[in-house]
Amino acid sequence: MRQSDMAAAIKILKKESIRFETPYLTEVAGEGKDPFRVLVSCVLSLRTKDSTTRAASTRLFEKAKTPAGLSSLAVGVIEKAIYPVGFYRVKARRLRQIANELISRHYSRVPDTMEGLLSLKGVGRKTANLVLTMGYNKPGICVDTHVHRIANRWGYVKTKTPEETEFALRRKLLRRYWIVLNDLLVTFGQNVCRPISPFCSGCRLFRFCARAGVERAR
Ligand code: SF4
Repeated sequence: MRQSDMAAAIKILKKESIRFETPYLTEVAGEGKDPFRVLVSCVLSLRTKDSTTRAASTRLFEKAKTPAGLSSLAVGVIEKAIYPVGFYRVKARRLRQIANELISRHYSRVPDTMEGLLSLKGVGRKTANLVLTMGYNKPGICVDTHVHRIANRWGYVKTKTPEETEFALRRKLLRRYWIVLNDLLVTFGQNVCRPISPFCSGCRLFRFCARAGVERAR
């Protein structure tokens, strides 16, 4: 994909996204922009299906809506609430630890800077970018597996890791597309540009796409 094609591609992706279910994290961000909810939901979502994350987050937020609330829960109670998200035991301990750190070092507020977010144990660049963009409406590019895969298939970047992709996109992509990109590509990646055997024959971005690394398609 050439730089000059990006505006048209984003326009198509926006139209396409209406056809599909909204990713859970986008829903959370839309519900009053609570950075704490975005942070907790993002931790729960790692290596977990959207529907499982949705149910687990709902159960957990019924028990705790703030860092203080989460910190007061026993790890076993958190585990039970978030089961069966991937690595639920690790995540339960991590969430409690994050809640404690927010209370002790950040006045019970979720930091609104990349440095502050990355200082929380277990928070990586993907989560930090998501909290910045969806929780605070600040510039950032959240690169998950979908964004990394699709940007490479397009030939827009040529990178080996999501982190490399994030920095390549920060250099190349116009700032006005930073926040929306994750949202659009998660939906597009779940439904059209699937990890294995993407639906290239009916893809509306076909003419822009280098299809780099695509060996099997439908
Ligand atoms: S043409 Fe295929 S590889 Fe390219 S964006 Fe569409 S589905 Fe993905």
